Amino acid sequence: MAFLTLESLTKTFGNQTTIHGIDLAVERGEFISFLGPSGCGKTTTLRMIAGFETPTSGTIKIDGKDVTDLRPNQRNIGMVFQAYALFPNMTVADNIAFGLKVAKKSSAEITKRVKEMLELIKLPDVGARYPYQLSGGQQQRVALARALAIQPKILLLDEPLSALDAKIRISLREEIRAVQRALGITTIYVTHDQEEALSMSDRICVMNDGRIEQLGTPFEIYNYPTTRFVASFVGTLNILNGQVLDSTSGRLGIDDQEIFTARELGGASTGDTLSLALRPEALSIGHANGGSNNLNGTIDEVHFLGSVVRIRVRFGSNIVSLDTFNRPHSAPPERGQPVTVNFTREDILVLDRPAI
Ligand code: ATP
Repeated sequence: MAFLTLESLTKTFGNQTTIHGIDLAVERGEFISFLGPSGCGKTTTLRMIAGFETPTSGTIKIDGKDVTDLRPNQRNIGMVFQAYALFPNMTVADNIAFGLKVAKKSSAEITKRVKEMLELIKLPDVGARYPYQLSGGQQQRVALARALAIQPKILLLDEPLSALDAKIRISLREEIRAVQRALGITTIYVTHDQEEALSMSDRICVMNDGRIEQLGTPFEIYNYPTTRFVASFVGTLNILNGQVLDSTSGRLGIDDQEIFTARELGGASTGDTLSLALRPEALSIGHANGGSNNLNGTIDEVHFLGSVVRIRVRFGSNIVSLDTFNRPHSAPPERGQPVTVNFTREDILVLDRPAI
């Protein structure tokens, strides 16, 4: 049985329904991300799980128990917010001890637990400091320790890394995941950052407009998006617009050139226009991946990003981006250079019609 279940969960503010009947089953120990654009309802759903927001209808169960009508402090949940939300006038140790004191734990137990938590977040020596004496990343680790000190059944994190700079974000991602794995705690992580969701999650729940658009592993979400929204929201996507020349063989015209698709054409018939999607890494210049499709084009733009060089190629009215690795001893290609872009039929995603 799932550890956390949401059943037909809805939320209406005034006359506006924000969450439209969400069903979700999270397994014990699982790390699930809610990923979606601003305003899609991630935080509202998380706040309903935490008990800060009352659902308009539906049920929330934790470990088999209906908690829908319980107050936040009765749900045994640990929460980390975007802003560090540490008590500024308390030491780090007192911040971590806060929930334990509320729960009237003995001072010996509190001391032991605070020490364990500081070790868990790899900051064993900062207990006597105040939050302002820590970096943003350290403060967020303390916020994590505070949330975990009470040994909650579920950990909820609401964009915990978005206030931090890029390098710290990446190292903290790994740390949060390592701590979560070590404790085996069931976790929901809200983010609008696809890379964060892809790199951290067991499964990603892609949300759009108050609904779950797709639920799957990062591999499934990225490689097999089931809707146009998921395909374009997660990862960079090239869209090619073409015309079906022969629906039986999957032959398509891209401007004045031809390619073949291996997948279903989404019910399109000969003569229809169709949008195809290709990830940048599915494309290569020349015949490096031995794919069956070749399109001749011209380099429109070259973006040197360091380890990766992103190249934009134009074929008639279509433009695609592809990534090549930087090679220090060979100069990247130049704008205006003619190239052949190569890709396999299997890498093409056929998006729903009509063409974008
Ligand atoms: P973000 O990434 O920007 O935080 P989100 O996906 O977390 O977005 P929510 O904060 O859950 O989205 O908001 C979803 C919708 O519900 C928005 O349209 C928001 O304006 C609305 N909403 C949220 N809280 C309230 C409230 N207390 N009263 C009225 N409307 C609200």
